[in-house]
Amino acid sequence: MLLKNCRFIVTQNEKREILENKDVLIENGRISEIGNNLSSKEEIIDCSNKIIIPGLINCHTHAAMNLLRGVSDDKNLQEWLNEDIWPREAKLNGELCYQGTLLATAEMLLTGTTCFNDMYFYTGDVARAAEKSRMRCFLGQVMFDFFDKDKTRKIIEDSEMEIKKILELKNERIKPTITPHSVETCSDDLLTQSRDLANKYNLPIHMHLSETEKEINDCLDNRGKRPLILLNELGFLKNKFVGAHGIHFNEEEINILNQNNSFIIYNPCSNAKLASGICPARELNNLCIGTDSVASNNNLNLFEEMKFGVLLQRVNYNEVNAMSTQRIFDSATIDGARALGIENEVGSIEINKKADLVLIDKDNIFMNPNYNIISNLVYSFNGTVSDVMIDGSFVVRNKEIVNFDLRELIGKLNSLNF
Ligand SMILES: [Zn+2]
Repeated sequence: MLLKNCRFIVTQNEKREILENKDVLIENGRISEIGNNLSSKEEIIDCSNKIIIPGLINCHTHAAMNLLRGVSDDKNLQEWLNEDIWPREAKLNGELCYQGTLLATAEMLLTGTTCFNDMYFYTGDVARAAEKSRMRCFLGQVMFDFFDKDKTRKIIEDSEMEIKKILELKNERIKPTITPHSVETCSDDLLTQSRDLANKYNLPIHMHLSETEKEINDCLDNRGKRPLILLNELGFLKNKFVGAHGIHFNEEEINILNQNNSFIIYNPCSNAKLASGICPARELNNLCIGTDSVASNNNLNLFEEMKFGVLLQRVNYNEVNAMSTQRIFDSATIDGARALGIENEVGSIEINKKADLVLIDKDNIFMNPNYNIISNLVYSFNGTVSDVMIDGSFVVRNKEIVNFDLRELIGKLNSLNF
């Protein structure tokens, strides 16, 4: 396929170049050439009215929770979980998770996200939805034992079974991760065994970390140390580790994080909504971004997340330099790819990278006038992309989902009394 005369290409390459009036040749799902006057015997698409950006990467989701949008809006994390979320999740089954995740993939694709890092139940069904929509994803079966020693072994065995199922799919776009829920819900035994499982299969660990003050105080009371110190002592940071939220850190913890390759996933909307606090993002070397679930956000639109994220840093530090516009865009593209260890495959538009690309109409009202594309993308654009491709195949074409009937799915889900 040839994307002909792309008006602008936001490459996110090392120099953060924005190219004008170039062609992008895609062969076998990868970008094989970027230049002028390229030709192809395959499909040629006129992009003279298009801005091309790398597919965005959402590093923290619970996709199936798209079933729960709007069920609880005015409670803190503990009340929200105990009163409104966990009782509903107890009624979940695989088919519901499949449908909820499918709905989430539609929402992500229609707002320019091509890859997500998910933590939830019924991982096999989540994978089935990702296969249907053709999204790239990392999936983990969430683990918690609530300090009940009798449960730990079985939880690890179940998680290992889910890993094997995902590996057996042999779908290059779908990869397993290890996802202990948090230090609030996992015993030291479960944490240790999940670390060993991550080592055994050489997989990333994705967990909630330092989200609330209560989590810090409980950990200090019960274990005599703060959550990040505990995880560091257990060797978590030697693995590929991505911690969601990362709000309550002291200076020692920030130093530890900055001396490791671990990434913190900034979830500004969810954290503000649940009044959990503000991630000290400006002080962290390795930062990516996520939405969390729609039950605490209430959408999966990374354009909205970027804007809120950069503004919140500036409010937090009362300083315009607290975070640059470019850095928040990096967190949703190349730095998201680095966090998940796929920076050689996606996250920027460069030769040999996979063609996970998002097309935006140049005459979209939110993109004009065009003094600065990155500025428009972060502060103005509402996410109404025109087309999305993953591995060089269109998954959104002219603002419509390609691989399934979204209206039918919405109709089905609205008739559920969940
Ligand atoms: Zn979460």
